[in-house]
Amino acid sequence: MSTGTRSKSARKSTSTKESRTPSNPPGLRDLPFPLPEVTATERRRARAILKALRERYPDAKCALEYSSPHELLIATILSAQTTDANVNKATPALFKAFPTPQDYANSTPKKIEPYVKSLGFFRNKSLAIHESMRDIVEKFDGEVPQTMDELLTLRGVARKTANVVLGNAFHINNGFVVDTHIDRLSKRFGLAPQDATVTMVERYLCALIPRDAWSEMSHLFISHGRAVCKARGGACADDAICRRYCSNASQN
Ligand code: SF4
Repeated sequence: MSTGTRSKSARKSTSTKESRTPSNPPGLRDLPFPLPEVTATERRRARAILKALRERYPDAKCALEYSSPHELLIATILSAQTTDANVNKATPALFKAFPTPQDYANSTPKKIEPYVKSLGFFRNKSLAIHESMRDIVEKFDGEVPQTMDELLTLRGVARKTANVVLGNAFHINNGFVVDTHIDRLSKRFGLAPQDATVTMVERYLCALIPRDAWSEMSHLFISHGRAVCKARGGACADDAICRRYCSNASQN
């Protein structure tokens, strides 16, 4: 895998305007970061991994339960430092008590707290939910915005949360959500260098995987991470995808 990045000027390009990184390949120039250079062979191999995982996990999807973009935004804010399963236990009562962004805006963080108390950092999370929903009502006509820049203006929303919302609620792929499973699997499958930071893993994946599959690929990695490739040792060598694509498989 090529480890070089593009030009220094491109590395510095972090403005929020369109065509933010003109040195990126066509279709990826709106990204606010430069992509590493990858070869056509590396891209083909990444597509083959995508295909194999797709066939294995045809139902892979976001593990958070929601029925609207604002519910997904709230569930994602709540998922910090806890599991998706824990969030899914708490959100039915919360979503029932506050059906719309306006309901949160009309309420107070204190009134939200009891519903999210089980999830840790509940004061901060209640405040983030209240303020983000209030801003959605006041600044975005009650609709969750569909651009990265607008989402990032909301309290409690960083790039990772925005990517989850854009990818899953709106099918807009603006980046990769790199969690612990995705970081591990990307390196084990040789899609990113072993010493890559989470930031660099995202960039390698963006360079290697077709853009329309970024959100899907996240769920596929998470499915394989949970089912086969666990953090504390996986089913190495017993699995056909691992045997074919993971360098670890032959060492076990
Ligand atoms: S071979 Fe082992 S390390 Fe590699 S993906 Fe499979 S379970 Fe994970």
